[in-house]
Amino acid sequence: MQLTYSFRVYPTTAQENKLLDWLDLCRRLYNIALKERQTVWKKEQRTIGYNDQQNNLPAFKKVHPEYKAVHSQVLQDVLRRVDTAYQNFFSRRAGYPRFKGRGDYSSITYPQVDTVNRTFSRLEEGFIYLSKIGYVKIRIHREADLSTARRINVKIKNSQWYVNITCEVRERNPNLLLQKSIGIDMGLSSFVATSDGQLIDNPRHLKKKEKHLKRIQRQLSRKQKGSKNRLKAKNKLSKAHLKVANQRKDFLHKTSNTLVQQYNIIIAEDLQVKNMTKNHCLAKSIHDAGWSRFLSYLEYKAKKHGKRFIQVPSNNTSQLCICGADVPKDLSVRVHTCPKCGYTDNRDVVSAKVIESRGLRLLSAA
Ligand SMILES: [Zn+2]
Repeated sequence: MQLTYSFRVYPTTAQENKLLDWLDLCRRLYNIALKERQTVWKKEQRTIGYNDQQNNLPAFKKVHPEYKAVHSQVLQDVLRRVDTAYQNFFSRRAGYPRFKGRGDYSSITYPQVDTVNRTFSRLEEGFIYLSKIGYVKIRIHREADLSTARRINVKIKNSQWYVNITCEVRERNPNLLLQKSIGIDMGLSSFVATSDGQLIDNPRHLKKKEKHLKRIQRQLSRKQKGSKNRLKAKNKLSKAHLKVANQRKDFLHKTSNTLVQQYNIIIAEDLQVKNMTKNHCLAKSIHDAGWSRFLSYLEYKAKKHGKRFIQVPSNNTSQLCICGADVPKDLSVRVHTCPKCGYTDNRDVVSAKVIESRGLRLLSAA
């Protein structure tokens, strides 16, 4: 299984200029390669593939010596992207490949990482080595095992630089001697409720930040179009957006880490978030809560640590008791009281228990 870690990097001005040069050269190469495929097809009704184009790279560099500055594997990756765009088109996963305008090309990829060489040799001092760019300052904000790194992608987003490091993770065969399980219910009053009675909330500072975002948004709309001030306000807004997004991710990472560390079997609902977001008034809270991202974090972290993560159908989980009785209640009723067995608890915790028992039943049947 592959796992990608994302870290912020801080290139020097010289390094940044180089990276921006590379991005532009790569974007132009992408367009040239696309054009070549189209022309050959039009003139000769013949397709040229990745290998043909890759074999032509040395000759191409002779005519365009500026490309000698770019790492050759990075250039190969550009051709690979053109190829992938065609493959996706042929298999109807995407539309016809399009030319990339300025700003449409925001990342470069080193498709191979030689971990024995310099790449991570100064990681502890806070530097990553990018071939032909140099040692770039990096902030490793969370624990990461990079010993199996396969690929490095360098990306610019809102004038900030990131590296995405893709690692190969061996799947450990889960030996679930300790069958400690937990069910989780995703709700609107708390972010998640667990079957052992925890209610985990969205951090309050995020809610405050969202109000702040709205204020900057309003400021922006008052600025005159095309003015310098508007541009400034725009930058401020995108920075603030990014900050909130990062904090939200951080919360999701921490919460999913805790659950995966503490339990061997994690059982969640199959939410079909997409269907739910069609309902307009629920939509915002669902997006904000980032449930689908949370579920994907749980899934890959469970895999990484040899734990089980399963999802069960979510129908009716809030209308049942753990004894099996129907206990219908609308959203405003926060406490579950079962008329049959007398069990009383927070409604979301009861849902989490129902989810847990569904999952365990599924596992024992398998
Ligand atoms: Zn009951």
